[in-house]
Amino acid sequence: MDTLWAPWRMAFIAEDDAARDERNALNNVQVGENADPDCFLCQAVFDESRDKQRHVVCRTELTVTVLNRFPYNNGHLLVAPRCHCGRLDQLTDAEKSELLQEIDHWTSILEKVMNPDGFNIGLNLGRSAGAGLPGHLHWHIVPRWNGDTNFITAVSSAKVIPQSLDALWELLVRFSAETG
Ligand SMILES: [Zn+2]
Repeated sequence: MDTLWAPWRMAFIAEDDAARDERNALNNVQVGENADPDCFLCQAVFDESRDKQRHVVCRTELTVTVLNRFPYNNGHLLVAPRCHCGRLDQLTDAEKSELLQEIDHWTSILEKVMNPDGFNIGLNLGRSAGAGLPGHLHWHIVPRWNGDTNFITAVSSAKVIPQSLDALWELLVRFSAETG
């Protein structure tokens, strides 16, 4: 499945020096012991100064929630433990509990903000199951609308994402702050 990006993505294609420096800074993060410096979720966990650039919408004591940079659909979130681990049996009971609370919390925020008809929520465990980042567990929350498997998707295996990630990040963070 390809994703068709709208014109705001031109900012990334026509990257200037400042933008390149910014991108390098995003990928050059001091991470803690047992974390992976090349893992974008560990980078999000350990660099709290660039939440906007990374589209981090929420941190709790044991979890981090980010917008998926390569969304299957508008509003696609990833909920992950702070620890870099790829197996469910590596999670503590407290992490399991907090992860489910965050999935619940963000599903209901997406419901209020985006008014979807349903959700796909799930975990791809291992590369053969489709995990793009098998070393760091993350749950996908994908809002669905009736008919979102639309004409373009059906004829060309591509999908149009109608809202920019920056705008969506602003919307979700603002809503979350207002509603507690
Ligand atoms: Zn990681």
